[in-house]
Amino acid sequence: MNYDVIVVGAGLTGSALAYELAKKGQKVLLVEKNLNFSNGTVYSYGGIAYWCGTDDRTISLCQEGIKIQRGLSDELDYDTQYRDLDLLFTIPHDKNPEQVRTNYQNFWIQPELLSVEDSCGLEPLLNREAISGCLRFPHGHVNPHKLIIGYQIAFKRLGGEIREELVVDLEKKGSRTVGIKTSKNSYFAPEIILCAGAFCRSLLRDVGVSLPIYFTHAQLIKTKPTDIKLRCLIMPSTTARFLMEEDVTALAKDTLWENPNDELQGEVLEPGAIQFLDGSLCLGQISQIRTNTSAPVDARASEDKIRGAIAHYLPALGTLEGQWHNCQVAFSKNVPFQVGRVEQIEGLSVFSGFTSPFVFVPTLAQKFAHFLATDEGDFPLKTS
Ligand SMILES: Cc1cc2nc3c(=O)[nH]c(=O)nc-3n(C[C@H](O)[C@H](O)[C@H](O)COP(=O)(O)OP(=O)(O)OC[C@H]3O[C@@H](n4cnc5c(N)ncnc54)[C@H](O)[C@@H]3O)c2cc1C
Repeated sequence: MNYDVIVVGAGLTGSALAYELAKKGQKVLLVEKNLNFSNGTVYSYGGIAYWCGTDDRTISLCQEGIKIQRGLSDELDYDTQYRDLDLLFTIPHDKNPEQVRTNYQNFWIQPELLSVEDSCGLEPLLNREAISGCLRFPHGHVNPHKLIIGYQIAFKRLGGEIREELVVDLEKKGSRTVGIKTSKNSYFAPEIILCAGAFCRSLLRDVGVSLPIYFTHAQLIKTKPTDIKLRCLIMPSTTARFLMEEDVTALAKDTLWENPNDELQGEVLEPGAIQFLDGSLCLGQISQIRTNTSAPVDARASEDKIRGAIAHYLPALGTLEGQWHNCQVAFSKNVPFQVGRVEQIEGLSVFSGFTSPFVFVPTLAQKFAHFLATDEGDFPLKTS
């Protein structure tokens, strides 16, 4: 069987793009190594940061993104559990709230600075001793697992095919890709799109392409449903992860990424929590930089650190029964995503490396699918 397009990876990026391509009438094969999913998408909070645009293009993508997310349950005929909710960025008790607020002044929607009293009024589970206030953003929320299942069901309804196989190589003829090789089969299509998150890097390296797509190893805890009620999405008001990402992707550190190893290059702990509609919670998160995707992580130490930090800000949640998880999360250097055709290799594209994917992916999947089907639009990949 031949296809028009093969999409590699069925996390948020691959599921959304496969669906949008099928809507355009393309014959699409979506290949995923693990349909039980232990990827960046299913372990995420599912927050839709539609306030995060900073220029005309990203502001318009945010506005379109939240509009699409609000209508997706109807469009996909599957409940993504969309809702509007408050995002609270906690400000540590020893930090000046006004000063912290200046870190967020570039966004098109400005946060509201809440006193300790008002923060705890909005989110009674917060420890008033731990904070000097909070920044409140209007935010959207979906159940991330349901979102990708919804996309996949709608994709199959349009004739799309999903196969659970590990892609081990890209098939090339001269300077163009003609298909993929999996652990079981070979499949052929004139367009191959990498939506493999952290694993894009190694798939690209195998065909001699180096793009500034990197990844963190993220650790978190998923709890069972509980009667405790967390009203808001809680995250810390720190920019430490972005600074760490900047540091480990500086040009001087390129050799680190070209020669992957297990060594810890950086670690950031961001105490955050979200409750899903079934009452379960996701408690996060540690982000570590190790350039090998399969580097081992000390689960016990990591779980203890997350629980300690959560207990400081949200005392009722620190000891909830739950399961520790580890996944890899892709990010790009200096841009909010890497979307476009790979210049050196005809037929190969990348749709990955997103910051705030839950707001940007639905819109860009529509636009990129349109571009691939018609060649209208402009998607330059950043190469360094
Ligand atoms: C704790 C936490 C909270 C987060 N909260 C938010 C949030 O609130 N809002 C937000 O916007 N983002 C959030 N994120 C980030 C977000 O979840 C991810 O960036 C995003 O879901 C990544 O989607 P993806 O499709 O690029 O990657 P993934 O979801 O990782 O999907 C990639 C897929 O490719 C498959 N794959 C890889 N290699 C191969 C191969 N060789 N063959 C076949 N299949 C392959 C993998 O199995 C995987 O299913 C959070 C992340 C974490 C860890």
